[in-house]
Amino acid sequence: MKYLITSALPYANGPIHFGHIAGVYLPADIFTRHQKLSGKRAIHISGSDEHGVAIMQNAQKAKKSYQEYVNEWSKEHQNLFSKYDIKFDFFGQTSAKYHETETIKWFKDLSEKGLIEKRNEKQLQCQDCHNMLPDRFVEGECYSCHYPEARGDECPSCGTWIDPLKLINPVCKFCGSKNVKPVDSFQWYLMLSKMHNEFKAWFETKKNVWRKNVVPFVESLTKENLVDRAITRDLDWGIDVPLPEAKGKKIYVWFDAPIGYVSNTAEYLKQTGSKEDHIKDWWGSDDVKIVNFIGKDNIIFHSIIFPMMSMGTGFVKPVTDLPANQYVNLEGKKFSKSKGWYVDAEDAINQFGSDALRFYLTSLIPETSDSSFTWKGFELKINSELANNIGNFINRAMKFSAKNWAEGMKAEKFDAFFKDHVKDVEVFVKEYHELLNSYQIKKGQEHLMSLGSKVNQFITERAPWTEFKTDQDKAAETIAISTAYVLVIGTFFAPYLPNLSSSILSYFGLNSESEVVKKIYQGDMKALKDFFSKDFKLQVEPQGLVPKIDPKVIEELDEKLKAIEAN
Ligand SMILES: [Zn+2]
Ligand SMILES: [Zn+2]
Repeated sequence: MKYLITSALPYANGPIHFGHIAGVYLPADIFTRHQKLSGKRAIHISGSDEHGVAIMQNAQKAKKSYQEYVNEWSKEHQNLFSKYDIKFDFFGQTSAKYHETETIKWFKDLSEKGLIEKRNEKQLQCQDCHNMLPDRFVEGECYSCHYPEARGDECPSCGTWIDPLKLINPVCKFCGSKNVKPVDSFQWYLMLSKMHNEFKAWFETKKNVWRKNVVPFVESLTKENLVDRAITRDLDWGIDVPLPEAKGKKIYVWFDAPIGYVSNTAEYLKQTGSKEDHIKDWWGSDDVKIVNFIGKDNIIFHSIIFPMMSMGTGFVKPVTDLPANQYVNLEGKKFSKSKGWYVDAEDAINQFGSDALRFYLTSLIPETSDSSFTWKGFELKINSELANNIGNFINRAMKFSAKNWAEGMKAEKFDAFFKDHVKDVEVFVKEYHELLNSYQIKKGQEHLMSLGSKVNQFITERAPWTEFKTDQDKAAETIAISTAYVLVIGTFFAPYLPNLSSSILSYFGLNSESEVVKKIYQGDMKALKDFFSKDFKLQVEPQGLVPKIDPKVIEELDEKLKAIEAN
């Protein structure tokens, strides 16, 4: 079984915050690393989502070309991901030529099958600047709640999905003119209504498998036949509709964006010189699990619309698993860049590093309900869990070892570990794998931390520094057992905290690519035993691996937020 793992394409229109990282990219990264370490073939695909009206408006405001604007955000996002040690096998862009080619293939196929249809309709047009006014290019009073600045796609006050023709006193967002009138026009529609039955039959197979935040939501939306939706717009940014009568029309962003997963996979294979075909060997293969990591705002497209497009073309299999997460808030309130209710994810990573942030953000992955980032919570999690438990244990064991057994630890000292402890490790590994394979990423880390607590308690109780004064053999055995646990902990942190893991593994002259590490990860205790069947010598001088966070620094950050709240 191969794994094709995707992360929701980040919209190239603003910074990525903790909510996105903990909700999508971090769990996807951990899951991919986990499958690779488990010996599975796995690829992690994502890329920037670069079309749509919101991007056009902000690029215009910034006085940049659309391309220049999206390139900048794409680069910024990739830079941030790399600081968080979030790795992709490929990260593309939907403004790329290869993506256009793939999208046109889908459009033409659905069109030939009668699943895309041209329809006449009325549309708003500005009588002064002559622009057509789709979506956010028109604003007016909401006909439902009378909020004065409702947009042509949605009312930000009451959430109504707006029919722009019904807006009261519409205003053109290009030139500010109020001279806006409905005119005859036409667009192409995706015939979701025609795909309803096939969709329902497929969804039956997912009902008892997918998360509880997905299934009832999809059921309520698909109780009745879905309404056909326009997938083209009169815009000057996007992929041209590939039909002769469609001059000036573009394919709209929500149709082309999910195809980005497919086009980026094709480009990945091409750029890595692979002989594999992105459809035959990946997207269309029965030997592949397709896993989409998304936030809850993306459920409708990934559970309904893209699966329907996939079934309609038959090009790709619909998604296998959809680990959709809830939201991460900031001190209990939604992140909002415009209101300043916001922590800069780049400042934070520059200040605290990837181990601390990945550890805390993993503990916040909103798998079942919304969670909340707080600076105090961050401090507590790092200082009293990661530093006190894992950091302290490794530090005590390794420094004591280096001090008293600098020439190396005799192989027979490890016997007690394989007699009395290895069974516990086996049980641990089995449960750890079950949690990660079922997308319980947060619990996987908790499970690893409880192993850490146990060994920390073990070394505290045995107190080798006291044993050493009366019984050096016994102290050596305690340190040998602890050393084996350090290797186990370093191995199983590899998907979660790759940086810390690599420091721990370096004590053993290993890294996450080492054969023995992969074998231990896969539960092969014989490999662990073989490793300690020779005398063992530390390969690197031990040092403190988990720096504590200064409470004063946290207080300052906390006060900064409180000041925003007061304003
Ligand atoms: Zn106008
Ligand atoms: Zn409203």
